[in-house]
Amino acid sequence: MLELKNISKTYEGRLLLDDITFAVQAGETVCLLGASGSGKSTLLRMIAGLESPENGRILFDHIDLASTPAHLRDFGLVFQDYGLFPHLNIFDNIAFGLKMRKLPAPEINLRVTSLLKQMDLAGFEKRKVTDLSGGEQQRVALARALATRPRLLMFDEPLGALDRSLKEGLQKELRSILRKAGIPAIYVTHDQDEAFTLADRILLLHEGKIIRAGTPAEIWSNPGSAWAARFLNAGNVIEGAFVSPDKIKTAVGVFPLKCRHKHSKGQRISLLLKQSNEIGEEELRLKVEDVLFKQDQFEVRLRGGIIVHLKDAPKTGQTIRVRVKVRCLE
Ligand code: ADP
Ligand code: MG
Repeated sequence: MLELKNISKTYEGRLLLDDITFAVQAGETVCLLGASGSGKSTLLRMIAGLESPENGRILFDHIDLASTPAHLRDFGLVFQDYGLFPHLNIFDNIAFGLKMRKLPAPEINLRVTSLLKQMDLAGFEKRKVTDLSGGEQQRVALARALATRPRLLMFDEPLGALDRSLKEGLQKELRSILRKAGIPAIYVTHDQDEAFTLADRILLLHEGKIIRAGTPAEIWSNPGSAWAARFLNAGNVIEGAFVSPDKIKTAVGVFPLKCRHKHSKGQRISLLLKQSNEIGEEELRLKVEDVLFKQDQFEVRLRGGIIVHLKDAPKTGQTIRVRVKVRCLE
């Protein structure tokens, strides 16, 4: 399918993308997750053929795309700002690529009607783009991208402009549409919740490199680095110093710690403390500093800045016991 090999790009002397290599397999949704300014859109533009990499190659089905112009790549693109044609009605917006490809009118009708139904937009054919809400416009943009049955779909923060409740609904819809369509997709976002909802696989982009790749569950349980753990909000990140090769001292206690790295006494590392219910995990006894209401649970801040989530609210000042899984971060 799609392969990127050793892609690099520099802007104004700064290495924005540094030797990026990854592949997207048939039917797979890959989320490229990174902070704003990390080069996500630049990478998508290169795959789309709107920009060229300085180094490296982009292949689809083992064919190098360097000499294939954007409009012949047969990739669908959906942006944050929808990119719909304001002078065309909804039907013609969705039909645009099909008319360009000179498909027969009955086939165009069939495809557009079926997509409108799928997007919950039946009856919207004659409406103007400007009469639609943001969520509806984004569904039209998605229908337009799907209409030509592209061999790859690309999304650049498509839900970024929508408010929270609408966004969560559309994330789930999009997920089921992508699974059903079976078209491989690259979905770019800075929102970790969105990536966890949509992705079969997540690529975490930081300082020009993919610093972590894996399924949402893999990345969640082991983010790899302190930066990644904080960015993903995957648990409590704290500092510790080894008091012996397999024991570490932190502000909230001393823990036995085994990991694949060799550590010497005195060495300082970052640790991930994840709340856990498993018997045999470390137990902390800490004073409650603050309790926040979070719908069906309470977010509790303990001494040392440790955050846990509990069903029942403890009292501020009370000392409670919580179990945590301790993991080392590189
Ligand atoms: P992201 O989509 O992750 O927010 P972008 O790919 O849009 O990141 O851009 C990352 C950075 O690359 C920008 O902050 C900007 O400094 C630089 N950049 C992007 N495009 C250009 C360009 N055409 N010319 C100069 N710098 C650019
Ligand atoms: Mg961007």
